Amino acid sequence: MVEKNEALWTRVLILAPVGRDAELASWVLSREQIQSEICSSVENLISRLVLGAGTALIADEALNGGVALLEAWVKNQPAWSDFPFIILTGGRGIRGGVAGSLEMAPPLGNVTLLERPLRSVTLLSVVKAALRARARQYETRHYIQEIQRVESERSQAYAREETAHAQVEVLNHVGEILSAEMNLDSLLPAVIGAGTDLSGADLGIFFAEDAVEEPGRFVPRCASGITLETAATLLGEDAFIDRQAFSGKRVVHCSRLEEVPLTSADRCVKAIAGKLSMQQCIAVPVTSGHGPVSGILLLGRLGEGPFSIRSERVAASLASQAAIAIDNARLFATAEKERQRLETVRQALQRSNEELRQFAYVASHDLQEPLRTVASFTELLVSKYRGHGSEEAEECASFIVDGVEKMSSLLQYSYTTAAKTLPTEPTSGEQILDEVIFSLSASIQESGAAITHDPLPEIWIESRSLTLLFQNLIGNAIKYRAEVPLQVHVSAKAADADWVFSVRDNGIGIAAQYHERIFGIFKRLHGKEIPGTGIGLAICQRIVEWHGGKIWVESQPGAGSIFRFTLPKEPQRIQREMAEFAALGGNR
Ligand code: ADP
Repeated sequence: MVEKNEALWTRVLILAPVGRDAELASWVLSREQIQSEICSSVENLISRLVLGAGTALIADEALNGGVALLEAWVKNQPAWSDFPFIILTGGRGIRGGVAGSLEMAPPLGNVTLLERPLRSVTLLSVVKAALRARARQYETRHYIQEIQRVESERSQAYAREETAHAQVEVLNHVGEILSAEMNLDSLLPAVIGAGTDLSGADLGIFFAEDAVEEPGRFVPRCASGITLETAATLLGEDAFIDRQAFSGKRVVHCSRLEEVPLTSADRCVKAIAGKLSMQQCIAVPVTSGHGPVSGILLLGRLGEGPFSIRSERVAASLASQAAIAIDNARLFATAEKERQRLETVRQALQRSNEELRQFAYVASHDLQEPLRTVASFTELLVSKYRGHGSEEAEECASFIVDGVEKMSSLLQYSYTTAAKTLPTEPTSGEQILDEVIFSLSASIQESGAAITHDPLPEIWIESRSLTLLFQNLIGNAIKYRAEVPLQVHVSAKAADADWVFSVRDNGIGIAAQYHERIFGIFKRLHGKEIPGTGIGLAICQRIVEWHGGKIWVESQPGAGSIFRFTLPKEPQRIQREMAEFAALGGNR
């Protein structure tokens, strides 16, 4: 096309219908290898000018009545064109010779006048100059076209770049949405919707595992551009894809399925494309890393034109993002199920723990009374029949009393494992201490102990708990007294948010290496010579810690002991501490 035009660019069109001017001019030009064509009329000349020419040699008489037509053509020339006309004047007196030709010059623009009679040298030089000028114009046109072509290519490339950029952005955005979506039912529509949009497909179907019916077989789970029901009806038996067919994890293009032999995946995609009247179709296996294929992303076009490489890449990238998101969603669903199962178990456990604690609480309280009855009646029997010769009975009775004491201590300990609540009002430390001193009055009297105390505060603790604390600490002071008359002093002082209680004695004292050990359950530093169960201090520790406090001893052998414990002043804090202690199962 271009070559053909170029041949036309150098031709000289001659319009000189009267006489032999045309023939002569053509002959002169042909001798110089300049191609010329003789035109029959102005219309004929214009029809050739439109196709392209180097110059036109026109006899002025031929222009009579045709100037307007030529002028119109000149006006319509593109910007680069300034067509060179050569007008032969001085013809046979028509319209006044040169003067008439000069009138025509302005409307035709680039005009050279040649006066007749024509001399071949003049004609050749004028024609050659016109052809050179015209050649430069064509050159300019070529440059303009080249610039336009480069510009258009650049803007096309820019548009492609823009599209790619937009696709990447959408893909990233979709990726973010996918990674945040943990629900499979919302995830698959998002994947298929994005896949169809981004690849410019008309239809999209996500095939996923049919775990219920038959694992290892993919069925349409979600569609775009077609309803799932229609897809299933149209596909019939071809709606089922064997996972094995895609184990190679290869993307299948139905437009490239002419090659033989076809794999089972190729056949499967070809069948689907046929049933859904898709001209173009790609099937991308959805797989993450080395894991198995978890689905197929099938995208199709109803019209002609293959998917671009970019669209395929987008689909593949989407499929791998979808695979990760699907894996995550599945893991999340499994974890969620497990969490729910554990929560059910935890609640059941909590209920049964609560029941157990309640039972321990009631039992520890209600069994104390019958135990006291057993102990006191046994002691009554022993005192009544003492000296009546039955040592064996006395021994038996002492076993009974021992056993009762042990059971009583264990019941006290089980009380500390039971659920405790905060009292509705604070407990008076002094009142509880008085009650404890009263309950221990027999042994206090027997030991000749002097028990004194400072003013004690009111504290947020169940009275039974505080009773157990004082009972065990003062009872121990009496049990582990030294030779000197026993003095026990109870005091309390405020320290920031706590009360610090102290029970001081001048007893036998405890070596430093046992200071922690003695709070362990059944940990005793003495044998049978001093009766005891090794539970008392363990009970004290549990009660104090349950309320958010601490207990410790400061002591040296022979220098007496000071047992100190703290209790928070604020009931809210105690409440929080109790809840935390219960949550930890009573182990801090
Ligand atoms: P128990 O008194 O029944 O043996 P506890 O748990 O009350 O059990 O005490 C643990 C051990 O701590 C005791 O066996 C004793 O050796 C020591 N102990 C407790 N209180 C005192 C005290 N006030 N003075 C000296 N030793 C004590």
